[in-house]
Amino acid sequence: MNGVIVKTTLQLITPGILFVFGVAFVCAWLVEKKRNYLLLLASACVLFALGAMSQILSLPPSVGVNAIVSGALYTSAVIAAVEGILVRSGRGLGPVIDMAILAGFVCLLAYFFYVDRNLVARVYIQNFGYGLLMLLAAGRLTALARGPYVDRALFWVLLLFGLHFFPRTLLTVGFSAPIDKITFGNSMFWQALQLSLAVLGAGLALAVLAAAVSDMIDDLRRERDFDLLTGILNRRGFQDRVSAHLLKHGSGRASFALCDIDNFKSINDTLGHDVGDDVLEEVGRMLRNASRKRDIVGRLGGEEFAVFLPDTEEQEAVDYAERLRTAIEQNSFSVLGGARQVTASFGVGKLQPGDNWPSLYKRIDGRLYEAKRTGRNRTISSASPSAVIDARARAERLRLDRAT
Ligand code: GH3
Ligand code: MG
Ligand code: MG
Repeated sequence: MNGVIVKTTLQLITPGILFVFGVAFVCAWLVEKKRNYLLLLASACVLFALGAMSQILSLPPSVGVNAIVSGALYTSAVIAAVEGILVRSGRGLGPVIDMAILAGFVCLLAYFFYVDRNLVARVYIQNFGYGLLMLLAAGRLTALARGPYVDRALFWVLLLFGLHFFPRTLLTVGFSAPIDKITFGNSMFWQALQLSLAVLGAGLALAVLAAAVSDMIDDLRRERDFDLLTGILNRRGFQDRVSAHLLKHGSGRASFALCDIDNFKSINDTLGHDVGDDVLEEVGRMLRNASRKRDIVGRLGGEEFAVFLPDTEEQEAVDYAERLRTAIEQNSFSVLGGARQVTASFGVGKLQPGDNWPSLYKRIDGRLYEAKRTGRNRTISSASPSAVIDARARAERLRLDRAT
């Protein structure tokens, strides 16, 4: 008697663990309710735990009904898990296909109990069927295998889980099943199933939880580093990436451009803040479209934008700024109804040895100021006459200071 109790308790460990994972998925969903796939995964864990309990505790007691009920619970759990993992990547099968798969499984299980009573067939239908479902999901998610580590882990655990159903079932069941419930419970098949479900089930649940946490962290990072209005980097995101670039590559061949919309305040004052926002959005889009993938594009605040151009000589950066400046000048901003022209001023320069973010920003901001001072709608670089004159004046001032 005691042996039976111990065995039943041991068997309840896997459903117990899955139940705990179910609670963890609900908690993760409560943190961010927009991630509905977490609820699918929570249901998968709970459904699986219920299926195992129904089978282990013989609830309902009638053998046929129990086989169908536990089979339906297991199948729903696998479908919910697979659907949850697919929905996370935006590749869900949808409720109609899910229901059709569930109905197919239940019909087959009922057929092989009530019409042609065959336990081996039911074992193969469930195991091979679940394996196929998981492989199908892995097949739809091959892109994960090339993604971040958490995505790769999820892909491989899913693939391994799906694959393991085939050799395990073949090796432990073969082509004849134990005749009664006691022998079934003591069979290699049942023991191996319990072990593999505990290890791979918990592994898969952990991998999805890790992926969900990583999704949340990615979202927070995006919110922290990107400007909501224009979709390009904000000051913090821009500064972090430029500083990281400087740390990694030093002040090698790279240039920097600052862009500030001219008389933007009057657009706000005359046409309203919303129109001003639309202009900012459009300028942000123009900057993004004009830039290469490796350029770092950001809105530093208000109507000031910045572009860091790796592997770019100053003259190339000036050409880039001039192209943008002309494009902005010639663009008929639809929100302004073509009634008004928008222009912008640019400060451009190459990185100097020993530059850090503050020194670089200060130098190029000086050129932007110069562009404003000398009439706006222009690009000032180290080669611009006003910058050259300014530099000469500074040198002259320095010479006089030293002389006195
Ligand atoms: P300048 O040619 O010298 O650059 O003049 P300006 O009017 O463009 O510059 P100024 O610094 O005087 O004004 C910038 C204005 O930008 C003031 C501020 O209200 C507005 N602004 C800052 N952030 C936003 C924003 O997110 N949306 C809108 N619509 N306006 C903003
Ligand atoms: Mg301005
Ligand atoms: Mg400004």
